[in-house]
Amino acid sequence: MSVLIYVDSENGKIKKAATEVASYGRKVANSLGTQLVALAVNVEDVAPLSAYGVDKVLQLNAPQLTQAAARPVVAALAQATAQEGSTVLLFGSGVNARTLAPMIAARLGAGYVSGVSSLPETTPDFSVKRSVFSGKGIAIERINTPVKILSLAHNAFPIETSPTTAMTVEVFAPTLPEAEYTVTNVERHSGKVALDDAEIIVSGGRGLKGAEHWGMIEALADVLGAATACSKPVADMGWRPHSEHVGQTGKPVAPNLYIAIGISGAIQHLAGVNASKVKLVINSDPEAPFFKSADYGVVGDAFEIVPKLTQLLKDRGSE
Ligand code: FAD
Repeated sequence: MSVLIYVDSENGKIKKAATEVASYGRKVANSLGTQLVALAVNVEDVAPLSAYGVDKVLQLNAPQLTQAAARPVVAALAQATAQEGSTVLLFGSGVNARTLAPMIAARLGAGYVSGVSSLPETTPDFSVKRSVFSGKGIAIERINTPVKILSLAHNAFPIETSPTTAMTVEVFAPTLPEAEYTVTNVERHSGKVALDDAEIIVSGGRGLKGAEHWGMIEALADVLGAATACSKPVADMGWRPHSEHVGQTGKPVAPNLYIAIGISGAIQHLAGVNASKVKLVINSDPEAPFFKSADYGVVGDAFEIVPKLTQLLKDRGSE
């Protein structure tokens, strides 16, 4: 028996979401009294995983997987599950995980719950909580199959270390099928910080009136080391790329700080950002719905406030 985690990575580097899964996985393994095993595909350095109490790493180095579709990775996951007798498979909240988790669930005939926001109850049944109705309710879901698969809600768990010096690393060489397609190139559209990994997000809405005003959003993001995001109409109008669109139909995000500028706070927008730890809203309309769910609100003209805020932060940074 074991708990198996999938180590999400980019360009050979372990992503923050993977450390969140490892930290969560350690707790699940403890509660089940079992080993924590990690499958790391094309990760250059797996040593950092020992900080989170991983007992064993299956290291799969297959250059052809870097640009391959999900099917070969799912095959590797299935073979790792069989080899390690894994009964719980854990994924983060990133795009890779959202692709792989349902595929491996279908392949293994396993119950799968996505967007999990609690540690599982493991006795008498295996059940977890997840947020539903755009964050307005919590569902408790029981998984009845022998293998259980979970993907975690974004940024929902503290990343806690539990260092071990006993971590073993095993070269893993499963039989891989041909990829059904290959990714030939990936171009980041914008933003120096990836939305998935961002601790802070500066997001703009239709209140900014046009693509030409995004310089002030980027300037504020730069000074904060933040990622940039936008509401749906902004992406629909082509002011910003769709990769920045957050919300119910966009990317769900949950940074430590979400700064919403000129965004009204429609339910569909809130659905994807409400899990942020702290929300700062800047809006000229005191009745804007976003203020109801904001931790901090500034009523005023973004075109006056944002440059001043950026300058203030720059001055503070250089003091
Ligand atoms: P607006 O609603 O036009 O709000 C602009 C805000 O800017 C206003 O509150 C205004 O007071 C403020 N403002 C104006 N001038 C200034 C100024 N100078 N300084 C400061 N503030 C100013 N939306 C999403 O964002 N994400 C989604 O995933 C999403 N999914 C959807 C799915 C469906 C099925 C549907 C029907 C809608 C979806 N929407 C989504 C759209 C959503 O309903 C709203 O229309 C949208 O979020 C509004 O975007 P906004 O806040 O940028 O624009």
